[in-house]
Amino acid sequence: MKTPLYKEPNSLGFYGNFGGAFIPEMLYPNVQELNEAYTTILASNDFKKDFNKLLRDYVGRPTPLYFAERLSERYQTKIYLKREDLCHTGAHKINNTVGQILMAKRLGKKRIIAETGAGQHGVATATVCALMGIECVVYMGAVDIKRQAPNVSRMKMLGATVKPATSGSQTLKDATNEAIRDWINNPTDTHYIIGSVVGPHPYPDLVAKLQAVISEEVEQQLFEKEGTKVPDHVIACVGGGSNAAGIYYQFLNNPEVNIIAVEAEGKGILTGESAATTRLGRSGIIHGSKTLLMQNKDGQITEPYSISAGLDYPGIGPMHANLFESKRAEFISVTDEDAMKAGLELSQTEGIIPAIETAHAFAIFKERQFNHDEILVFNCSGRGDKDLQTYTDYFKLID
Ligand SMILES: *Cc1c(COP(=O)(O)O)cnc(C)c1O
Repeated sequence: MKTPLYKEPNSLGFYGNFGGAFIPEMLYPNVQELNEAYTTILASNDFKKDFNKLLRDYVGRPTPLYFAERLSERYQTKIYLKREDLCHTGAHKINNTVGQILMAKRLGKKRIIAETGAGQHGVATATVCALMGIECVVYMGAVDIKRQAPNVSRMKMLGATVKPATSGSQTLKDATNEAIRDWINNPTDTHYIIGSVVGPHPYPDLVAKLQAVISEEVEQQLFEKEGTKVPDHVIACVGGGSNAAGIYYQFLNNPEVNIIAVEAEGKGILTGESAATTRLGRSGIIHGSKTLLMQNKDGQITEPYSISAGLDYPGIGPMHANLFESKRAEFISVTDEDAMKAGLELSQTEGIIPAIETAHAFAIFKERQFNHDEILVFNCSGRGDKDLQTYTDYFKLID
């Protein structure tokens, strides 16, 4: 037998050299409880029924697979967009929060905590808590609270409490630290909804499996449109890596599918203002997981930078660290400038204003060429409404 291109994590949550659960002893019972229950719950018909029903009627799935004709013409290749931007709340993140709230209910939890960077995961979490009538506390970096004000208002409108994280760079990694602290203090009644394929095992696997619906739909939809379930390339931006994991999932073991991950280079690799983890990082431990991590020579985590709050994270999930190390995926990094231009281009070529995170994926045409008959599937992970002010300031759209 040929060795598979990709393996599910082992029972300890390791994807090759990465993953695991490096957690303080006080967190062990919480993580262990989830670990013992999650595969059984995910596999149960009762869970699947509720999950699929909410994905359809509440999230608005299946999301379209859209052939981008004008963009395809411009780059002389076949470009499809998986329209996660059309999900309720404007991004793929709701797939995960719907799944996790159903899991929390089955575990008998009465309170939800979450961390958020761009605010998208906070909104997605506050949304499902409102839906289920469950208390919700969202930790958010004080800097992010300022630069993502509309999402803060949304969370409050939805009834969530937003708690600012004021340590460190006051961004996503600091909010995550605060959420972990809360969880340690509230072990029995609280479920922590992590927003990406990061954190201690079983979160990376749990979140990947909840997002896998994206590539399940792509296979079906591509078959209807192209007579094949197999694209030549699947492309996604990677912050923690959940939208990427979702669109890669069904294709990970198919050697015909090239997998492309796009990281945020910020102002440039050598500027000290970057979030391109695979270019700048090495193995280390962050938020309970062994993965690639941007750090100084003493192992202290380096402050990341990206114009997009959702990609402004110093690590990537262990699954992606493994995809990078094993060379299963091709990693590309693009600058703020190229991402912003790609966002403007998609807006004016297809009438779709992407989130700045998403725009990074579309910037690969500067780095990479494709044949005219190749099929590219981009994960259009989110919409750009939350980023309008940033786009407007950047391009001086208003005189
Ligand atoms: C949060 C976010 C991302 C980055 O998170 P991943 O876990 O890497 O997917 C990408 N796109 C959008 C629209 C987001 O909101």
